[in-house]
Amino acid sequence: MKFLVHTYGCQMNVRDSEAVEALMLAAGHVKAATEAEADVVIVNSCTVRQKAEEKAVGKAGNLIAAKKITGLMGCAVKRMGEDVFKRLPKLDFAVGPRRFGAIPRLVERCLTGERRLLEVAGDDEVPTGLDAHPDAPRTKSGEAAFQSYVTVLLGCDNRCSYCIVPDVRGHEYSRPAREVIAEVRSLAAHGVKEICLLGQSVLRYGVRNAAWSPDDPSSPGGYMEAFPRLLEALNAIEGLERIRFTSAHPKGCTDELVRAYMEFPKVCRHLHLPVQSGSDRVLKEMGRRYTRAEYLAAVAKLRAFDPEFAVTTDVIVGYPGETEEDFEATRSLMEEAGFDNAFVFKYSPRPGTRSAALPDDVPTAEKERRDQMLLADQERRGQSRNERLVGTVRDVLAEGPSLRNAARWSGRDGGNRIVVFEPTDAIRAGDIVKVRIVAAHPQTLIGEI
Ligand code: SAH
Ligand code: SF4
Repeated sequence: MKFLVHTYGCQMNVRDSEAVEALMLAAGHVKAATEAEADVVIVNSCTVRQKAEEKAVGKAGNLIAAKKITGLMGCAVKRMGEDVFKRLPKLDFAVGPRRFGAIPRLVERCLTGERRLLEVAGDDEVPTGLDAHPDAPRTKSGEAAFQSYVTVLLGCDNRCSYCIVPDVRGHEYSRPAREVIAEVRSLAAHGVKEICLLGQSVLRYGVRNAAWSPDDPSSPGGYMEAFPRLLEALNAIEGLERIRFTSAHPKGCTDELVRAYMEFPKVCRHLHLPVQSGSDRVLKEMGRRYTRAEYLAAVAKLRAFDPEFAVTTDVIVGYPGETEEDFEATRSLMEEAGFDNAFVFKYSPRPGTRSAALPDDVPTAEKERRDQMLLADQERRGQSRNERLVGTVRDVLAEGPSLRNAARWSGRDGGNRIVVFEPTDAIRAGDIVKVRIVAAHPQTLIGEI
């Protein structure tokens, strides 16, 4: 069968989709070049905001009539359970997160005529297929892949008031270090230069269950915490050049972590540290367990050892009861933190979360206004932060022709900043090149080799 996986949502979904592709290939199916050509289409869904869920479910709905088999996977399936077939009566199968390993088997069952198959995992289920990567990882343009995601921590135990993630992705489970190290070694042997470790709150790696075994022969010892020790082990893998990870909860920004950044040169000096709000009152309501001052202290700690350390964030506008004063506190925090990039989300009540019981009382137009204001602020801030880098030389992992202008290439520096430059004939995608920055835009740097 020719199949295609269509992905919505976060990096974790991107990685789950890739694992599903690898499992489908291993089961003898082939990847379709276009959606029109596919017999089997699997839509990987997100439910973090209502609009995200509608997009994915709508996409699956549009495909059902045209395809032999249409499946829906991911977070929206777990949220809806049996109700998924009320929304999409003709859907062939639905499978929740932590159960995607069942997909090849579900496709086989559908081929024998079974329909409306549903599988969802329990909150503590350890999935199969987590380490499945295509034999020869490829980029979208068909070249050998030099970047890869690696899932290290599943689920989330934080229970922020607004967030549905813990309900749909279950409890925290840290994959054993041995398994993660083996996976990264194999990726590096296939030419992967950069990995990004994934977890909802990735700095909690190893906190809930013993992911790091001290008698592991590859255990280098040293730190008290599992995550910095995992970084230490990965830093030693030959051929691997860069280590990234996301997302981080500010509680996990410890001195040990800062030491890991300082001591392990492959660990990129960038942290995605969602703040959500700059108002202590709202942070408390959200159950984020840190104050504005604590958050700013974490950022200061990172920038103290490297002033160019890149910090990016997520912010929610229009949380129930968010006043103009609360919003202004978020604005000023963003300025004080000097974010290098920021993603702004309009609050969306999610069924079953604590905040869904509160009135969603910030009008849509006001949420929109606050969103636009923060984006405009960030545009200005991005420009001035990037201008400070003009004249510096950055190590850039060359990714290939830039989307806007194919005569130029783009890549990223260690801080995850996009750098556009003119390539030489000798450069290959995946090379790390030295680029001198000559001009700055809010979201990109322009440079010369
Ligand atoms: N685990 C990650 C975030 C996962 S969700 C972390 O905690 O860092 C990604 C982002 O979506 C969150 O950071 C938050 O800003 C946003 N988000 C989550 N629930 C939301 C909701 N109900 N409404 C609007 N934005 C939401
Ligand atoms: Fe959601 Fe909070 Fe967990 Fe992030 S840390 S996934 S925002 S509950």
